[in-house]
Amino acid sequence: MNTLPDKTVERLCKYRRVLYNQLSEGKQHIFSHELASLLHITPVQVRRDIMLIGYSGTLRKGYDIQDLVTLIGEILDTKDGQKAAIIGLGNLGSSILGYFNGKRSKLAITAAFDIDADKTNRVYAGVKCYHIDELEEVIKKENIKMAILTVPAKESLQILDTLIMSGIKGIMNFTPKSLNVPENIYLEEYDMVTSLEKIAYFIKQNSKEG
Ligand code: NAD
Repeated sequence: MNTLPDKTVERLCKYRRVLYNQLSEGKQHIFSHELASLLHITPVQVRRDIMLIGYSGTLRKGYDIQDLVTLIGEILDTKDGQKAAIIGLGNLGSSILGYFNGKRSKLAITAAFDIDADKTNRVYAGVKCYHIDELEEVIKKENIKMAILTVPAKESLQILDTLIMSGIKGIMNFTPKSLNVPENIYLEEYDMVTSLEKIAYFIKQNSKEG
């Protein structure tokens, strides 16, 4: 299968999350319109995505949830799973570490890095925190391909260079400094302040109209 568009991959992740919830509630089948309504999208969109990944349900029962979860897993996951590292184990880094691990069987944070001697050589939520100077060695040795960047913005450029040299292939950048990465590295950036400002703008506009 060719590389899927960003938005399709994002929806597949969301379908899987909703489908897991449905399984845990004892449901075995789901119709496209039910899945669509749980995600506030159109049933046409759901059917198009599911057809694209080569799955079809039955008219009478809808999609078999377990089969669909398995198929989405084959598309999203690698067989042996993928490892991620947290760079910067401060407020945000440690919250992400505590929140994420255990959520997905094929994706886990397996190493953390910090510059603060009080944090290094200790284990947090089952994950060892190494000194940042060990970044390249540990990332290569552990075959870690993903990095989550939660350091102060001014540190990010220098760390980015080391991440590239270490063979990292995907980065989630939480710092407010936007990064420029080579084509073979997949980058996601998230800035809560921008999201809050966007919400504030639309509240302002809606209250003008109301
Ligand atoms: P923090 O100060 O609590 O944590 C930063 C950590 O990075 C500390 O543990 C520090 O020792 C470590 N560090 C500093 N320099 C380092 C280096 N060179 N190598 C390795 N580790 C280093 O800060 P925080 O509140 O956790 O925020 C972290 C980053 O995330 C900041 O850039 C902040 O602006 C950003 N942030 C983004 C969002 C968002 O929505 N995207 C939300 C909150 C914070």
